[in-house]
Amino acid sequence: MVQKNLIDGEWIAGSGAFRNINPSDTDDVVGEYARASADDARAAIAAAKAAFPAWSRSGILERHAILRKTADEILARKDELGKLLSREEGKTLIEGIGETVRASQIFDFFAGECLRLAGEVLPSARPNIGVEITREPVGVVGIITPWNFPIAIPAWKIAPALCYGNTVVFKPAELVPGSSWAIVDILHRAGLPKGVLNLVMGKGSVVGQAMLDSPDVHAITFTGSTGTGKRVALASVEHNRKYQLEMGGKNPFVVLDDADLSVAVEAAVNSAFFSTGQRCTASSRIIVTEGIHDRFVAAMGERIKGLVVDDALKAGTQIGPVVDESQLNQDTDYIAIGRQEGAKLAFGGELLKRDTPGFYLQPALFTEATNQMRISREEIFGPVAAVIRVRDYDEALSVANDTPFGLSSGIATTSLKHATHFKRNAEAGMVMVNLPTAGVDFHVPFGGRKGSSHGSREQGRYAAEFYTTVKTAYTSA
Ligand code: ADP
Repeated sequence: MVQKNLIDGEWIAGSGAFRNINPSDTDDVVGEYARASADDARAAIAAAKAAFPAWSRSGILERHAILRKTADEILARKDELGKLLSREEGKTLIEGIGETVRASQIFDFFAGECLRLAGEVLPSARPNIGVEITREPVGVVGIITPWNFPIAIPAWKIAPALCYGNTVVFKPAELVPGSSWAIVDILHRAGLPKGVLNLVMGKGSVVGQAMLDSPDVHAITFTGSTGTGKRVALASVEHNRKYQLEMGGKNPFVVLDDADLSVAVEAAVNSAFFSTGQRCTASSRIIVTEGIHDRFVAAMGERIKGLVVDDALKAGTQIGPVVDESQLNQDTDYIAIGRQEGAKLAFGGELLKRDTPGFYLQPALFTEATNQMRISREEIFGPVAAVIRVRDYDEALSVANDTPFGLSSGIATTSLKHATHFKRNAEAGMVMVNLPTAGVDFHVPFGGRKGSSHGSREQGRYAAEFYTTVKTAYTSA
């Protein structure tokens, strides 16, 4: 059965269908999904525009109830949806279920936020005049998402968009439409009026581009590559629309001489390799001071050798496959580049055979890398990391910040002085002390600076910045 697009409250067959393939077993077809055309995208935008006046004035209890029901159903089905996610994306079942629970928490959080919409009342600078400051929805929000968090990223964009009274056209990544289809189906059955949330699955260059080109999309929230992010920005400037971009990272993880070795190794292995290194918050630059360098590298080697790389759905798997062949090629290309540049491939990097045909890669760790090498400057987006040796904390901080990106930044240290200094001086939107660079909470702001991000933060109460526009009203009485 082909899963269809949702346009104006109807499930619509597209022009043809595309297949969703399991990266742990390429013989396993997860499902077939209707391919939306540019005309379908335009119909979805028109439906969202028509639905906006009523939804923007809908009662907070109606919005609360729909988001609450959605949170409840996602949680009740966490095992099934987590399995679907792991099957289509390749992260382990524990990670897939964890991400599904997080999606539920996000809907739950924004269900609560509907009940806490507030403004400000101030006296005017002039006598006998009052000033009210309120937040209003922006209008039709276009949501474009990547493949690496198939349920959490759609959730953290759709939930606030609806909470604050916007209508939505949602285009998920083509590689992983299953989780997106499932949450749209849940929201639809939870009682959303027609046209409030529209799903258009298909190619970025067709469906996504039609969204970028439409003057009726008032805001676009995008997570994906730097190149596509630039397109979103340029098209949005053309239409004078609000836009928000989350793009790449090249996140540093600093290990100081005084670090607890086991804390440092666990956090580094998690940062670099969990979720197969396919997180924008992953660390692929591990910056280590010379006093602990050799002990750290030896301990990392032991950990890497022991990592179980296998089918994402198998019990005991710690690292699932790479998401598809083109990403696998990108990873192995960077491994070759690192060698050519003179870094030493100390551990891993081999393609692996398992019971089923899939994109299995042994996590790779380079040593003797410099921060000028391409493997230290460009986002790889796979289980490939490099250790850069430095003299001391000052050099570590300067190498950590010497990057075009600025999403997340981590440090392993037992020194309060260095931890505090690093929190203040790391040029990143998120800083982690004795924790992996990845792995964030659902109720606090998420986002970066420099080349990683543009616009206001996502998640938590800070999401209101993007999904609302402020009105200042004056009344003379
Ligand atoms: P990735 O390398 O992670 O796949 P992309 O930036 O290519 O990153 O994809 C992120 C999202 O952007 C996907 O949903 C993709 O379909 C969409 N996309 C790709 N090209 C365009 C485009 N020209 N216009 C709008 N969206 C696009």
